[in-house]
Amino acid sequence: MMERVYNFSPGPSMLAQSVLEKAQQEMVVYGNTGMSVMEMSHRSKMYTDIYDKTVADLRDLMNIPDTHEVLLLQGGATQQFSAIPLNLMVNGKADYIDSGNFAHLAAEEAKRYGEVNIVASSRDDVYTYIPDWKKGAFTPDADYVHITSNNTIYGTRYVELPEVNAPLVTDASSMILSEVMDVSKFGVIYAGAQKNIGPSGLCVVIVRKDLLGKAKDICPKLLNWEVQAKAGSMYNTPNTYGIYLAGLTFQWVKEMGGVAEMEKINIEKAALLYDFLDNSKLFKATAQKEFRSRMNVTFITGDADKDAAFVKAAAAEGLVNLKGHRSVGGMRASIYNAMPREGVVKLVDFMKKFEAENI
Ligand SMILES: *Cc1c(COP(=O)(O)O)cnc(C)c1O
Repeated sequence: MMERVYNFSPGPSMLAQSVLEKAQQEMVVYGNTGMSVMEMSHRSKMYTDIYDKTVADLRDLMNIPDTHEVLLLQGGATQQFSAIPLNLMVNGKADYIDSGNFAHLAAEEAKRYGEVNIVASSRDDVYTYIPDWKKGAFTPDADYVHITSNNTIYGTRYVELPEVNAPLVTDASSMILSEVMDVSKFGVIYAGAQKNIGPSGLCVVIVRKDLLGKAKDICPKLLNWEVQAKAGSMYNTPNTYGIYLAGLTFQWVKEMGGVAEMEKINIEKAALLYDFLDNSKLFKATAQKEFRSRMNVTFITGDADKDAAFVKAAAAEGLVNLKGHRSVGGMRASIYNAMPREGVVKLVDFMKKFEAENI
């Protein structure tokens, strides 16, 4: 078998090797059940035990209080762009902070269901920073305020949360479990799984219980959080295998020492890259320093041909998927939880070598 590469893809992205190996061992026969997890009835005790443990481990890892429900739904983060207004727009008004393309898409989708006020935006500056929401005008009777905690394409993150009266809703797809979050500060936290959790298609939705039961009549049943909460995320057949893999990742994060420990490792990994970039004569980080992401590190040489040559040469060394998003170009190293420190060290060593040869 070919050796595994260091995969810097923004998502779907690397999973911990021990998670993949465990899944492989258990693939054909899980425990003493005589069948694969994929073959289990989602209503059987053998499966609901897996489901319950997965949710309990996530509650543990994120210290999720009893005030909040945990849902494991389908349709990725994008499905929630629709579910959020459909479940929360009682007054028909919401505030959005536009800090990146996913934030923009979330706001555009919400406009189909109500009035959307863009409190602040960094769109005109290619989203290189988190816009200054402190100067923005929030709607007094907004049903919620929506933010994107980490902007995957541009490599920026919120360093401070907006203090708002309305429930705060965040898209945490590319940062969940990478740093400690105070769940009690949020009305809703949602995250597509394919960055820090497991396979794509699955979405973790953590919602404050008092926000359930407000869905619009037109809200499809499958998108209705109250319906899903009452059904234990099983109004229809859930993504059983994806949930099982998410559970393996949650166990792995626990073995690594939990989210606080992951955060320490992630700060160190990101610093390795940014320290190099800040002293480089060839490469330059693109996000404003204050808002730099710990998960997605974006950088350029300033010469599109050199960027392309770098991406190609890195791939030949087993450092793959470093090309930036098609909308911004340049490079992006996504260094989620499952990217080991050694992968980042190897990348920095290669960048040094490439710099020496191309300056
Ligand atoms: C990847 C990503 C999405 C899209 O997730 P899907 O699961 O493809 O719908 C949305 N928001 C953010 C911040 C992301 O990083």
